[in-house]
Amino acid sequence: MYLKNLLLNKKAAFFSLGCKVNAYETEVMRQCFMSYGAVPVDFKEIADIYVVNTCTVTNIADRKSRQMLHRAKSMNPEAVIVAVGCYVQESAEELEKDGAVNVLIGNRLKNKVADIVNEYLVSCLENPENKEKPVIVMNNDEQDYEELCTISDYKNLRVDIKIQDGCNQFCSYCIIPYARGRISSRKPESVLNEVKSLAERGFKEVVLTGIHLSSYGLEDYSVREQANLKTDDGRMPLLELIEKISEIEGIERIRTGSVEPRIITEEFVERLSKCTRFMPHFHLSLQSGSDGVLKRMNRKYDTVMYEKACDILREYYYKPSITTDIIVGFPGETKEEFEECCEFAEKIGFSAIHIFPYSVRKGTKAAGMPDQLDNNVKGERAKKLAEIEEKLRIDYENSFVDEFRNVLCEEIIEFDGKIYMTGHTEEYVKTIFEAKEASPGDIVMVRMSGKRLKNMVFAEV
Ligand code: SF4
Repeated sequence: MYLKNLLLNKKAAFFSLGCKVNAYETEVMRQCFMSYGAVPVDFKEIADIYVVNTCTVTNIADRKSRQMLHRAKSMNPEAVIVAVGCYVQESAEELEKDGAVNVLIGNRLKNKVADIVNEYLVSCLENPENKEKPVIVMNNDEQDYEELCTISDYKNLRVDIKIQDGCNQFCSYCIIPYARGRISSRKPESVLNEVKSLAERGFKEVVLTGIHLSSYGLEDYSVREQANLKTDDGRMPLLELIEKISEIEGIERIRTGSVEPRIITEEFVERLSKCTRFMPHFHLSLQSGSDGVLKRMNRKYDTVMYEKACDILREYYYKPSITTDIIVGFPGETKEEFEECCEFAEKIGFSAIHIFPYSVRKGTKAAGMPDQLDNNVKGERAKKLAEIEEKLRIDYENSFVDEFRNVLCEEIIEFDGKIYMTGHTEEYVKTIFEAKEASPGDIVMVRMSGKRLKNMVFAEV
């Protein structure tokens, strides 16, 4: 703490763009401000300080980051506007010229944001001229995992826990390895302590998140070992962490964010399937179902390897949910390659696909590739894939009709004068059913139907 605490009783509002890792870090920042005595308020309210955790994964993310900073400025022109994270890391100069931001903070400094803002306020108090010039704080060399404080007041029953940062993969379209730096991992003891503390406070479900989760625990190993996603003596640190978490009493459900298809080997899944609290839901990042495009994307697998991973999952789990991300309109993606991608998506039978039209990221290899596609073509391809996605999702959900599934009760809602409970099955199918005696946090068995309400599947208790 600094000698003067100028954050005490200040209203601070936070906004997170982009991924779950950003959401986790925003929550950590909120708590750091609270430890100074700042009062968190909604982003729509008039605040003294606005903190925007930015994203730069696409042009749209850049634009939204700028929009939120300007929105904050227009809410209260006298407020301190703080931009943090990936967009700042990549475009600090642009933001500095923009004029809406007072403090710009790059990545791996999230646990210092409150300190930096307090220091800024102290410096402005001592010299009001300092208000005129934005302060930029970057941490370009630090590659160690940034140990963040444990979050103490989650709002949901399901909690995302950040365990890893950075990426060494350099997919040709992606800016993240530049914006977030090399891989680094949170120490297993630190993760386990947070999970134990969550279990003691009644939380039932944890989701392990990271930028390239499959690289968890591999930063001290060679490029070859990192490529195999194992240590030199064949250990699998992510799997070991899941095994330890599954021994923690009270945690009923464990999930992970996106993992690489390469990590899904027989050895990995055979051990994972013994962790009965690990849920049968796998987000296996595909990006394209065409081998030509995958090669140009510099992805380290092909469709044969991907399909094999899905076969292994289906061998060990009953109807596992396999979800994915796909980029459409990558430079040079021919009509035939896009067709191959659609056919592959249908062959795998995904239960959900997140579709992203390709977005040029300055500084990446793909930005300089020939045959950049027109936005209309990208839009049409995204629409066609979305139609396939909807059909696959409904087919998957309907495959459970009349079967019994366990649901974690999450939220009570009222619809048409009736009270309903909503929650997710182990496969992450969102369901709705008459609340009866269930309370949020209970795990109940329901019988699935083929009917839907608001994109949720109706079930009976
Ligand atoms: S694996 Fe590829 S897409 Fe994912 S963060 Fe790393 S470089 Fe980006």
